[in-house]
Formats: sequence, structure tokens, C-alpha cells
Amino acid sequence: MSTLVIGSGITGMAAALLLALQGEETAILEAAPVPAPLLRGFERDGLHFDTGFHCGAGLRRGGLLRLWLRALGIMDFLDEASFFPIQEEFRFSPGVTDAATAAVTRFPAQFDELAATVTEQFGAQASQNFLELVRDMFAVLQHSPYTTPHRDIPLAFSWGQSPSLHDTLAAARLPLQLSRMTQARCAFYGIEPRRASFHEFSFVGGLYFDSCHGISGGGKTLRQAALKALEQAGVSVRCNARVARITHTDNHVSGVELISGEHITCTRCIFTGHPGQLRHLMDAGAMRPAFFRHIGEMRDSMQAFLLFGSTNKPFLHHKTLYIMPPSSEETREKLAPLESRHPLIYLCCDETQQNGRFPVVAVSPTAHSFPEGDPQPRPEAYSLWKQKASARMLEYIRTRVPELDDLVLLDVATPLSLRHWIAGSSGSLYGLAHDTETLALFPSTRLEHFFLAGQHVLLPGILGGIISAALAVGFATSHDAVLQGFRQCANNE
Ligand SMILES: Cc1cc2nc3c(=O)[nH]c(=O)nc-3n(C[C@H](O)[C@H](O)[C@H](O)COP(=O)(O)OP(=O)(O)OC[C@H]3O[C@@H](n4cnc5c(N)ncnc54)[C@H](O)[C@@H]3O)c2cc1C
Repeated sequence: MSTLVIGSGITGMAAALLLALQGEETAILEAAPVPAPLLRGFERDGLHFDTGFHCGAGLRRGGLLRLWLRALGIMDFLDEASFFPIQEEFRFSPGVTDAATAAVTRFPAQFDELAATVTEQFGAQASQNFLELVRDMFAVLQHSPYTTPHRDIPLAFSWGQSPSLHDTLAAARLPLQLSRMTQARCAFYGIEPRRASFHEFSFVGGLYFDSCHGISGGGKTLRQAALKALEQAGVSVRCNARVARITHTDNHVSGVELISGEHITCTRCIFTGHPGQLRHLMDAGAMRPAFFRHIGEMRDSMQAFLLFGSTNKPFLHHKTLYIMPPSSEETREKLAPLESRHPLIYLCCDETQQNGRFPVVAVSPTAHSFPEGDPQPRPEAYSLWKQKASARMLEYIRTRVPELDDLVLLDVATPLSLRHWIAGSSGSLYGLAHDTETLALFPSTRLEHFFLAGQHVLLPGILGGIISAALAVGFATSHDAVLQGFRQCANNE
């Protein structure tokens, strides 16, 4: 079999590595001029800024993500010393907090500190209820052999029927502030708590209670390690290779056509881009009309406004900071956008770089209505809005976090930036939404040897992409073959 993987994000790289490990001839095609454009980040004013990776759950020794990085051979090119723990800090508005606790609360970076930290802030009963909830989250991960290496259990692709995160939190009898701290992680996959499935949240947000780590150099370091692993495995990554057509013979995928007109044949293909493109990439007869209709009806996850700045202060060092909106009926249930009086903003920071300066990334959901596509030059009204929104966000951060009064604005990104750099992107932060109302896409399709993988198919995040890749390769070759390496790594760890 010769496989073409479309897209060189973490999903495409993971899928290609898993296939290469099985001796399959594999190549990656990427539309962008560089591999893994989302993880690459960019430079401003002598600082490197991360775009697609700041922290990961399960990166501790023996943790789920660490095991998968090892199974893929990526860990061979990462330095153990470059991993650092990240704790989460929550800044509530003083005077409008809901419990008699401090205006600043936190979750530790490691599970073994969780009980003591929560007890100290919210008392013993709240801590007991909370730990029960966290154990329920961890139990969800025991349902798939791709997330639990130590038990031989049958394959379950979906997380099954699940209550919403909102209902689960309501039943958990937590202090309001603790409940809001937990649901703030919905910002990690762009779904509001009422629509977030508890099972999916457990995978994306819950695992951060196991452990939360950054890697020095962030996405850039991860990307370099993955590219070295690909080189070692003999996988080529061809850039400036946008796929304009996926061809088929009878009911089999047969190859792709690039926008240059070049045709490349294959006997298997894994597509990792936004599935919204498929209607234009395939003949109408390649799939059932219901498939295209379903994709057309799927919603995207949240849109965001990203601010990139620098500070000389180590205040954000090894921490993710959430600026929490006050608890009104409206903000309690929503990911309060930048347009609201008190937006939800989270801030991340890499290790110190040039002359002791720290690069800061601040992310806020936005409800702004953006122009269609990727218009060049940008419309004047949009540029004006962007300028005002940056000034407002910077001011809001400085007011709510006086420790960052020296924060200097260096650049901003909007959904238009994502559309510009990531081929086929709709501009949403995490691609297609995964929620209680939406039927997820399946890795196998009606077209033989054509598979779907990535954040749009399973769940977002580095772990979501890797496990989605593993599932797609499992369906394409054999689940046992894929899981063998994962289990071996777990036994050796
Ligand atoms: C600002 C930001 C911060 C984030 N922070 C974190 C974090 O801290 N931790 C975490 O775990 N996750 C984080 N994420 C999420 C994570 O980065 C993504 O979920 C993950 O990288 C998605 O990987 P992917 O391979 O599925 O998709 P992508 O990286 O989007 O890869 C798809 C690739 O396919 C290419 N492509 C698409 N169509 C075509 C075509 N027709 N022909 C050729 N190529 C094509 C695209 O150019 C793209 O490179 C963050 C995301 C963002 C935007």
C-alpha cells in the first residue's frame, strides 16, 4: 500500500509515523509553505510566539500523551529536561466572588497536589466531592484501548451517550467558584458548558487534573522533534502541495490532484484538514449525499482573538492565568466573548527569551462577525475593529492583572489569520465543534481506503490529534498493530 496523508499538523505527522512504523510507504502533502504551520508559531521583536501548543495534559512520566509521543518515536528527539509543570490560576473580580474565598484561586500542575490544594481553598467536603468528579473523568478514559494501555478492552470509537458538563457539574455539589474554574477549561475546545459532553470534556479538560506541562520552546520544539522522527522513519513531507481533488476508481481512493494540476497516485489516503473542503475535493458520487449534508450542517468551535505581547516580569512563569468574568447568569453559562463587558481571557507564557523578556499569548473568544474568506488587502472596517479590539483587550488585561502593567502589544491574530495560514480552515480556534448535539464523524468512510482524522474528527488538542491519527491508522491497517507499540511503551515506562 502507498499512503498519502493530507495535512502535516500533529495528526498528519502522527498518522504517517504510525504507518511508517508498520513498514508502509507513506508521504505527507501540505498546502502551506512549511510543515505543521499551526505548531510553527512565529517571531516578533526577537521573541518566539507559540500558536498551537502551550501546555499538554498527560505529559508527566507515564502520562497518556507522553506514552503516545514515545510510541511515535517523537520522545526520542525531546529532552526530558525541557518539560516543566504549569499550574492554572483564576482571577475572579474582587467583591463579586461567590464564596468567601480569595479572589485568586488555583489548580496545581499535578494530581498528587490536587486534594490538598482544593481543601485549602474550598474545604474538606468540597474537595471530596471534587475528587469524586475528577475520578469520574479519569474513568471515562478507561473505555478505549487508545487511552488506557494497561487493560485489554474492546474498541469503542465514541465516548457514548453522555450528560452535559453543565448538568454533571450541577449534580456534583461544588462551590460555584470551583465549578466555574473547572468549566473554564471549555475554552480549550471552544464549547459552552451546556453543550459540552461530560465524556468529551473528560478527555480534553479532565486529563489536565492528571498533570499539566509545557515544553520549553512549545509547539516549535514539538514540531522539530516530530519532523526529525519523520525523517528517521523515511517519510517525506512535501510543502506547497495543496490538494485540489481526491480521485477514485470505482469505490476505491486512487490518488490526489494538486492545484498545480499534478496527479499523484496512492492506494490509501488519510485526510486531516477541515472536512468542509470535501464537497469541493470529491465527486458528488464518492460519498452519500447525507455525508456531505451532515458536514455542511456541523458547527465550528469558538472563534478567538489572540493578543501577542511581552513582559519583563516573571509573573506568568509556569502558569496559565484565567481572567474570569463576574458570575452573572449570562457569563456563568457562556464563554464570555471579548465584546462583553467582562470577557473571559486566558494567558500563557513560554520560558524567558531575549534579555529576560517573556512572550505572552492572551486568548479571548470573540463574537465578531468577520468578512468571508481571506480578503487581501483586509477591509478597512475590519482593520479598524482589530485595532480597537487590541487596545481594549490590552487595557482590560492591565486593569485586571496589575502585575502585567508593563505588557507591550506586539501582534494580534483573528480567525482571518488562521484562515490565511492553515489551508481550508474556517477560522475557528479548534475546527469543527464536538458537543452533545452533534454526531461525530467516523474515521472510515464509504470510499474504500479513504480515512478522516484530526481535531475535526475526534477532539482537538495535541492528544486529540494523535489519538485520532492512531484510530484512523488502526482502521486502515490493524488496531492491534497500532496498539502494540503504545502498550509496549507503557510497560517499559
Ligand atoms: C491558538 C491555539 C492554541 C492552542 N493551544 C493548545 C495547547 O496548548 N495544547 C493543545 O493540546 N492544543 C492546543 N491547541 C489545539 C491544537 O493546536 C490543535 O487541536 C491541533 O494542533 C490540530 O492538529 P491537526 O493536525 O488536527 O490540524 P492542523 O494542525 O490544522 O493540520 C491540518 C493541516 O492540513 C493542511 N491542509 C488542509 N487542507 C489541505 C489540503 N487540501 N491540501 C493540503 N494540505 C491541507 C493544513 O494546512 C494544516 O497544516 C491550540 C490551538 C490554537 C489555534
